Amino acid sequence: MLILIEDAFDANLPGTLAAFGEITEDSSRLAEANIVLVRSKTKCTKEYIDSAPKLKLIIRGGVGIDNIDKDYAESKGIVVRNTPKASSIAVAELAFALMLSVPNKIIAAHNGMADGKWLKKNIKRTELFGKTLCLIGIGNIAKEVAKRASAFGMKVVAYDKYVAESQEADMKQTIEEAVQDADYISMHLPLTPETNGLFNENLIASCRKKPVVINTGRGGCVDADAMVNALENGSISWYAVDVWPSDPPSPDYPILRAPNVTMTPHIGAGSKENLLRIGQEAYSIIQKEIQDKGEVS
Ligand code: NAD
Repeated sequence: MLILIEDAFDANLPGTLAAFGEITEDSSRLAEANIVLVRSKTKCTKEYIDSAPKLKLIIRGGVGIDNIDKDYAESKGIVVRNTPKASSIAVAELAFALMLSVPNKIIAAHNGMADGKWLKKNIKRTELFGKTLCLIGIGNIAKEVAKRASAFGMKVVAYDKYVAESQEADMKQTIEEAVQDADYISMHLPLTPETNGLFNENLIASCRKKPVVINTGRGGCVDADAMVNALENGSISWYAVDVWPSDPPSPDYPILRAPNVTMTPHIGAGSKENLLRIGQEAYSIIQKEIQDKGEVS
């Protein structure tokens, strides 16, 4: 059995998976591979899948499977699995770090010091304590953010089209109702036809408090032109974002030049601990497939 590891995983993963067969990180051996492991970089399109006639299992190390043509893979008898819970803490911590960095003016303060400026009187901080956080989507990651926000004394509300109740947040029936009194909005949606551009001009018009928006879900869930307008006219006070329509975004993607943004290069799932957890989950997935089917080749 040949296991092809694409993309960035824990450095020890090839050694661990060697228990199951031959391991390669050489993409040119795709045609021989029985299992491939990808993160978000490799796109498992129809063409990719057609180039892998022996493929039986695709493991996406991480949550979103929008880089995999799952329907086509399954039509060819290929099982597609992800590691849905491994990344929750890593992404929640980044969302929270972004949320803390904005009212604490960490970047402006640091840049001032690096430029030899003592901005003690210029930098006006505010607190998260007592503020309202709206979570859009209340899945695994958002629940971890909610726990941290509660510990900081924030009021947590949420909207999720498919979840009516939650122990972690006060659920609102419409997305407009959820955002209207929010000081902070943290987005935790998958990219689907329904969520594409969901954060648009109409939704921004429902935000009464000039919120800070944090997006560690998917870049495409935000209408970039509407967001830039809102940042320019102040109806959104800040946009802190880790996710992009493509990795990296096209140089003319308007968010890159917008005022009042904090940007990170899709590092939400990239903690050392998470890569270890993803590797452990991938091992268990392969082990279970072998137990259920005898072999994966
Ligand atoms: P999850 O599946 O546990 O939660 C997603 C939630 O979104 C679900 O509760 C679902 O009901 C809700 N949802 C789906 N469509 C909706 C809609 N139209 N309106 C409102 N809610 C809707 O997933 P998760 O583990 O919490 O991850 C959320 C997203 O975070 C992933 O889909 C992925 O896009 C993104 N992510 C980003 C990184 C990163 O590196 N920044 C890492 C992992 C995941």
